[in-house]
Amino acid sequence: MIYIGCHLSVTNGYEAMGKTMLGFGGNTFAYFTRNPRGGRSKDIIPEDAAALNALLKGHRFGTLVAHGSYTMNLCAAIETTRLNGLDMLQKDLQRMEYFPRQFYNFHPGAHTGQGAEKGIELIADALNGTLFPEMQTTVLLETMAGKGTEVGRSFEELRAIIERVELSDKVGICFDTCHVWDAGYDIVGNLDGVLTQFDKVIGLDRLCAVHFNDSKNPCGSHKDRHEKLGQGYIGIEAMRKIALHPALRGKPFILETPNDDQGYIDEIRTVKSWMEN
Ligand code: ZN
Ligand code: FE
Ligand code: FE
Repeated sequence: MIYIGCHLSVTNGYEAMGKTMLGFGGNTFAYFTRNPRGGRSKDIIPEDAAALNALLKGHRFGTLVAHGSYTMNLCAAIETTRLNGLDMLQKDLQRMEYFPRQFYNFHPGAHTGQGAEKGIELIADALNGTLFPEMQTTVLLETMAGKGTEVGRSFEELRAIIERVELSDKVGICFDTCHVWDAGYDIVGNLDGVLTQFDKVIGLDRLCAVHFNDSKNPCGSHKDRHEKLGQGYIGIEAMRKIALHPALRGKPFILETPNDDQGYIDEIRTVKSWMEN
């Protein structure tokens, strides 16, 4: 079974996103829990949440992958930025309880000059201060391209965060194909090797979701600029192999490619066609 979908806007509410994705031909999706740049969030209407949950169940959707705000930096050097991030995380995790057993994915953070080790410590502290035993959500750290002072540019850095988290059974990884490639992992020439390395360092049991993007730049460029499937340096053949890899079977695949609606509809159809052949 493949679960494929794309990033959607929450502007018209939650049930509306489910209906949109049905129209797109997909069976999972992502959305920003709040304004990705400004960080503000709209209140969730309980009836709307319930209607989406019913739709997901009725149409056998895969797990959704909500995305935290880009402005949330849990390891910023400036304390007010960090505390603001903590506040967003805490509120987001409360709101996620409207949608039981979904994923909440976020960028671990940027250490802004303090060094990766300090960043790792601060991110783990933030998670230890906000995860709670009764929560139903799994929180996913995203693999990062290593742009600027981003933390999470290697599997080792991600493991170091998870190792420090007390409720680590609530933490997984979102594998972004563009980011992993830009970070220097050769998923074109050696996909098996990269996934074996992931397994050794973090464990494939932690790999919960995939951000399915081609890249505008070569391997190791540390740029993080997504491209449409098959139009970037990863290429259509490698994207197909990733989608069909047994280690990733059954995971939600989320397109974050630069597309309009029709572009997403076409990419969803392409990915589904790989499965059928
Ligand atoms: Zn992301
Ligand atoms: Fe991503
Ligand atoms: Fe990205």
